[in-house]
Amino acid sequence: MEFEVVIGLEVHTQLNTKTKIFCSCATSFGEVANTNVCPVCLALPGALPVLNKEALQKAIYFGKAINAKINEVSIFNRKNYFYPDLPKAYQISQFDVAIVEGGKLEIEGDFGKKIVGITRAHLEEDAGKNIHENDNSLVDLNRAGTPLLEIVSEPDIRSADEAVAYLKKLHSIIRFLDISDANMQEGSFRCDVNISIRPKGDNKFYTRVEIKNLNSFKFIQKAIEYEKERQIAAWMDGKYDSEVVQETRLFDTTRLVTKPMRSKEEAAEYRYFADPDLLPVFASADMINVAIPELADEKISRYVSEYGLKEDDAKVLVSSLEMAMFFEYLIKSGCSPKLSTTWLSVELMGLLKGELNITNSPVGKEKLADLIKAIENSEISNKAGKDVLAYLFENDISVSDAIDKLGLKQVSDDGAINAIIDEILSKNADKVVEYKSGKDKLFGFFVGQTMKEGKGAFNPNKVNELLKAKLG
Ligand code: ADP
Ligand code: MG
Ligand code: ZN
Repeated sequence: MEFEVVIGLEVHTQLNTKTKIFCSCATSFGEVANTNVCPVCLALPGALPVLNKEALQKAIYFGKAINAKINEVSIFNRKNYFYPDLPKAYQISQFDVAIVEGGKLEIEGDFGKKIVGITRAHLEEDAGKNIHENDNSLVDLNRAGTPLLEIVSEPDIRSADEAVAYLKKLHSIIRFLDISDANMQEGSFRCDVNISIRPKGDNKFYTRVEIKNLNSFKFIQKAIEYEKERQIAAWMDGKYDSEVVQETRLFDTTRLVTKPMRSKEEAAEYRYFADPDLLPVFASADMINVAIPELADEKISRYVSEYGLKEDDAKVLVSSLEMAMFFEYLIKSGCSPKLSTTWLSVELMGLLKGELNITNSPVGKEKLADLIKAIENSEISNKAGKDVLAYLFENDISVSDAIDKLGLKQVSDDGAINAIIDEILSKNADKVVEYKSGKDKLFGFFVGQTMKEGKGAFNPNKVNELLKAKLG
């Protein structure tokens, strides 16, 4: 019997607003516990929430990027449950009407191309954090009230590969819109996986379990594979009804298995109702009709059509927002697209290892631009450029100082080069005669001899040009 897996994903992404969603506390990460707090996010009696407009605008950006419907009027509800990190004993979330509804995302991979539906994306507040140390439990409410966008997919995903492709695409969109730093390790891009199985060809949806606590693409893949096998085994053993129940499971990252955490709450258990402290939200036409930043796919097409890059090269350049911004800076400073591509995605990336990445690279965009320009102006050769780059990695000095220090400045001076050319030609008078009688291949010989005599410091273009003039 053949089975297929049915997956729907819920992603919580922390919006990168300066302040929280219903108060003016800062959202900065890593502060002393319980310092980014006020009466609103501490839930002191009588405090009233006020919606952060920027959070709403960022949710709208996302809706536009996935071609969704943006609801002019959306509603904030109270989702009631008790937990120590939730001081109000309810979370403010959108339930009746979300700001974003019915979008689409195209994904691509070994499975081909496919569209995954996005049911909705709604705004809500994050909870605080419980920290368990020895025998104590501590509560830090700095995170309480941080704006989240919860993005819920349709159960359209059919494999772990598709799930990862969907998440990577979503991640890219969020980064290029710059609405979240979407850092998985720091928890600002968190994913819950809903998963069920069914016999192939069956169109019914079966019982789903929800897996939480997944903070890497690798674990998401492993959790899906494990859970799929667990559900299939239960079916084959005739224990499907008792072993596959609607519940929340946790992924154990050391044993790579999922374990039951709690039975799944039904919506009714949360006793949702519209928050009487918050009026329905009206998004103005100005907020809805904004132009959104250019996304990775659009950049790829533009790099190909405008800069003549190969599609695969363009894909590397948009693999992160930081990389794309770096590349566009190089172009803006007048470097050619072709050299910018090679020097950024091959040479610089080749040196960025371990802790180093594009955001903390010892050679930043200004220096790389200077280096590329030095090559383009024939100040140094392409080969010397690699030595200069390696030197700049270890030494915080300017490109021109590094070139001087390494003595790599190319000789482009006509007089100096012509003097050597004259020497070479008179030493090889016989070859000059052969060349003039039609043995064109000898041109390379003269270039080689001149370059050798110039100890590699001669500008090869200049050598070519001057030799051509001499030989007629
Ligand atoms: P909840 O609040 O219970 O988490 P949501 O509506 O927020 O419910 O999310 C439900 C998620 O589960 C969606 O991503 C949806 O696509 C997915 N889903 C629903 N039914 C199934 C199923 N039978 N198998 C797998 N995923 C499912
Ligand atoms: Mg949910
Ligand atoms: Zn506050």
